[in-house]
This record gives sequence, C-alpha cells and structure tokens, in this order.
Amino acid sequence: MGLSVWDGRGDAVSAEPLTLRVDDGRIVALGTAPELSSDAEGIDCAGAFAVPGLIDGHVHMTLDPEIGPPAKQLAVARDVLHVAMVERARAMLLAGITTARDLGGGEWSEFLLRDRIAAGLVPGPRLLCAGQPVTSPDGHCHFWGGEARTPDELRAVVARQLAHDADCIKVMATGGVMTKGTKPREAQFDADEIRVVVEAAAASGRLVAAHCHSAPGIRNASEAGVRTVEHCSWSGEDGFGSDFDPDVLAGMAGRELWISATPNPSWGKRLEKEGQPTPFATRMKACMRAAREAGVPMIASTDAGIPGVRHDVLPRMLPVFAEYAGLSPVEALRAVTCEVAKAIGLERVTGRLADGLSADVLIVDGNPLDDLSALQSVRHVVARGRCFSARGRVVSERGAAPLGATGGL
Ligand SMILES: [Zn+2]
Repeated sequence: MGLSVWDGRGDAVSAEPLTLRVDDGRIVALGTAPELSSDAEGIDCAGAFAVPGLIDGHVHMTLDPEIGPPAKQLAVARDVLHVAMVERARAMLLAGITTARDLGGGEWSEFLLRDRIAAGLVPGPRLLCAGQPVTSPDGHCHFWGGEARTPDELRAVVARQLAHDADCIKVMATGGVMTKGTKPREAQFDADEIRVVVEAAAASGRLVAAHCHSAPGIRNASEAGVRTVEHCSWSGEDGFGSDFDPDVLAGMAGRELWISATPNPSWGKRLEKEGQPTPFATRMKACMRAAREAGVPMIASTDAGIPGVRHDVLPRMLPVFAEYAGLSPVEALRAVTCEVAKAIGLERVTGRLADGLSADVLIVDGNPLDDLSALQSVRHVVARGRCFSARGRVVSERGAAPLGATGGL
C-alpha cells in the first residue's frame, strides 16, 4: 500500500511508507517487509496517510438534526426513521467514523442498527448503545422512558437496558438545554443515587456515561465513579462556562474518568465576534484548558443528532475542539482515536493501528498531524477489514460479511 502511518499513539507518522496487511477484518501486519505488499489484491495508497478510524464518543442515531428538540421527534414514523438511520450510518462511515457510542434513544431502534452493521448488512460505524438514559421523573429526556427515583427504580431502568443488550449506560446527572421544565444547572440525582446506577451497570461489566452541565452534577457523577462526563459545560446563571469550580475539577483528576465535551462546528462560529473573542469562547476555552492542565483526559464527541449537528460532523469538529481545548493536532487525534477507545472500553478492539486490532483505518490525502483538516480529504475508509472508496464503493473485502440489503433496518 505504501502508506505514511500514524498508529494512534506516537508523536509522528512513520518515517518510511508502510504496508498494512488485513485478514479476516483484523490488522495482521504493519511494516516494511516486501512480502507484505506482494498481494495482488492490495490497494495502492501511495502518498496517502493512514490513521486509525475515528471514534465519536457521543451520538444519537435516532435523532434528526433538521427537526429540532428530541421531544418533537417522537412522532416520526418508524419506517421513515429506520431509513434515515441507515443513511446517517453510511454518511458517518464515509467520513471516516468507524466507531460511535450512542448515548440515548427511547425505543432501542439504534440497537437494531448496531446489530445490522455488526452483521455486515448495512455499512456504518461499529456502535455501542446505551438505550434509555436513566433520568429523574419529568427530568431531562424523560420522554425516552428512563424515569426513576428510588434505588429499586434506578436498578430497574438499568436492568431494562441490559435486557435489550445495552453496551453502556447513560444517566442524566443534571437537567438539559432541550427538555422543558429542566435546568442544565440543576442536579437531578445525588452522588449516592448515581452510584446505584454505576454499581448496577458494573455488575454486568458496563461503563456509565453521565450527562452533566453544572458543577454539582459533575461532582456527583465524578464521585459516583462514572466513566465519562458528557458536556461538562460548567453551566451557571450566565450559561456555559459561568460556574467553573476548580475544586470539582481537582476531584476528577486521577480517576478513571474522561471529559466528553461535545463541541460542534457551531462553536467555531462562536469563537469571535467583530474581531473580539466572545464571552462564550473565553469561558469555555478557560474551562477546557484548565481540564487539560489538571490532567483530566478529554475525548472527542459531538452529540450528533441534536439540532444542527449532523452525524458525519466529527472530522470538521476536531479543529474547533483543538482550538478550544488548546490541543496540538496529535493530541486532538489521540482524543478521537486511542483515548476515546480507552474511555469507552474498546482499547483491545480499535483506536490504534496495531497487530490484532480491528482493521479500522482512515486513509486521507495530506498529513493530519500537520493540519487536522486533512481528515476531510478522504481517500478510503476501512471498517472491520472492508475497504470503501470515499464515494461508498466497496473496493476490497477482507473477511467482512458480504454487503446485503440497504435502505432500511
Ligand atoms: Zn446527547
């Protein structure tokens, strides 16, 4: 193949072009030995750069970014929804997103999509799904069916998601922006209640993602032992970033915990107004850079599906994320590959280019370690060994199941 390779961990691309050999959906060799490139079926990637397939830590496959708040989407007919979800999955894959974690829906339709993708029937990213988020009565996204208050009710909501074969659990530690009657700055559960959720999930080997906008919610979730703090926006009376609490941040450091800040491209438009940094940008930059300084790791995530945030937006979001958090290109690339794989429990599956891991590879023109926008110049995407052209043509099957029906679940 003759590729310049960034393996998902190091500080630079390989000094000389490498060949990546894939068999039965996995990487079986990565190196310079001539026999590696002797295969007639090989794909010529001369001059291209390979990085691990991208991972979005927070998406909603059932949500249509064109419609509006989630509560308004409950009326979408299921067959219409399922066709749209297949299209979203395909667009994500062709943008280089080979894995994504779905953090909430109401009827487990995303589980169906996950299983179809895993079976090779529909092209799309590997999905990890949470199902109905655990929330308080009338709390954030209560209309998805995960309301609970007592410990028994909390355990029952977790058990219901596990019965549907959830890969992870989501809990709403605070109110949200898009649910009427809830406030982002108000905690919905205390640390003991979230701990009940964490322990119920852990008993089945599942990790917990907590939706947290305000300092009290972030503290409760962190103390309860959640794996990822979603949004982490330090919401106060004056909006995002207006109630930053250094003590809460200090309490997050040293735990097995990652911040999943869900920036999106619109944050790029909010960086400046009339040549001056906006108050939003000034506050959020300070919060995210403080997290970096404190050594609390961050992962790339978009909340794709919420209004205006398309499912394939991750590569375009990354430079914006890097700007806010003060990350170098290689640090941003780690946050969207190996670091997020670790945070969501997939470090032995994907997130790096190494022998034995899934063959999830994004091949682009241009070196993304010099300029993150090179991620948008897609040449090929390899997902579990199946290689797609940028326009979606399957150019090589390497142990993947044959392409079957598309157009619906
Ligand atoms: Zn979300």
